[in-house]
Formats: sequence, C-alpha cells, structure tokens
Amino acid sequence: MALTALITPWRVHAVLPRSVANGPGQRFTIWSQGCALACPGCFNPETHGLAGGAVRTVGELVDAVLAEVPGIEGVTLTGGEPLEQPGAVAAFCAQVTARADLGVIVLTGFTRAEIEADPARAGAVAAVDLVVAGRYNRRMPVATGLRGSANKVYWDRTGRYRPSELAAVPELEVTLGVDGTVTVTGMAAPGRALW
Ligand code: SF4
Repeated sequence: MALTALITPWRVHAVLPRSVANGPGQRFTIWSQGCALACPGCFNPETHGLAGGAVRTVGELVDAVLAEVPGIEGVTLTGGEPLEQPGAVAAFCAQVTARADLGVIVLTGFTRAEIEADPARAGAVAAVDLVVAGRYNRRMPVATGLRGSANKVYWDRTGRYRPSELAAVPELEVTLGVDGTVTVTGMAAPGRALW
C-alpha cells in the first residue's frame, strides 16, 4: 500500500483494543468522530462534532490493531459515522485484512442503497465482512445483536459471521483501563465510551 494511504488522517473519538460487546469474539473497536446524520435519540451525540476526538493516522491505527494479534477475532468500526471518512476507512480495512486474518464489521447510519450509490462509501466497505446499515430509530430499539434498532439491517458480505454469533454478542460491557479509565459499551448502553 502506498505511503500516502498509511498517513491518511482519521478523526477518532475513542479506541478500545479489546471489546466483547461490539461483535463476535474479542474485537479491536474504533469509534469514529463526526456524524451529520442526526438520528433523533442518538445515544452518542458527543461523537457528532468534527472538532472532537483526536486525529490519528491510518498507519497508527493499523499498527495498534496488529499489536493485538493473535488474541482478537477482528475489528469493529462504529461511531460517530465511519463512512463520513471513507478514504481512511478504506485504507485501514484493506491493510488490516491483508496483513492478518481479521474480520471487519462496520456499524453505519447510511443504508445499503446509500452506500452502494456512492463510490467512496462503497470503496470503504470493499474489504468489510459485515455492514450494519441504516439510521437509528428510537421507536424501534433492540438491545441484542448489533443493530440498535429493528429497522437496521445486517448486510452480510462474506458469510464470516453466523446470525447466531451476532445474536449472542453481550448487551453490555464495562472495561476498566490500566490508567483508571472506564468504558461502558454494548447495545444496552451503546457507544458510551467514557475516557
Ligand atoms: S448515524 Fe449513529 S452516530 Fe450518527 S446520529 Fe445516527 S445513531 Fe448517532
């Protein structure tokens, strides 16, 4: 991959190197910063602003993921809205899947049709195994699995994950970091990354 891809900036809200509540198995989870979709009742409004979080590079995040191998099943990208930074997501996913046997899940507010209609967004999910797609609808909440609300759909691109594995993902996870930070995540408290 070209050096320019590795230095692609990615504004990130939070990172959790090991999470069991963002997909099957142990997963390196990245909360992207920035979302303009404005779903009413969004559970993670602190991820919306374009000035929040911190700017990392794709190469930095790829190295952080590979440092957890072996030991993780894969990576989950959530937010915020990962597909509002499609170049970074595309480069990141291409790298981690080329360099390790890692599954990739993306949680996005865009629908499958919106992703397929936009070359940049479509490119961002080219190496992704599972896309959880669609706006959050607060009138249709779902605590189990990864959908958040019942209108969202699983777009299974590779068959890597079985529906039973997705249904078995824990609803809530509390992680205490070595520096004393506490992260609460999972669909029962989605995206409440506290650090
Ligand atoms: S897409 Fe996700 S982060 Fe963006 S407003 Fe909707 S629920 Fe919130």
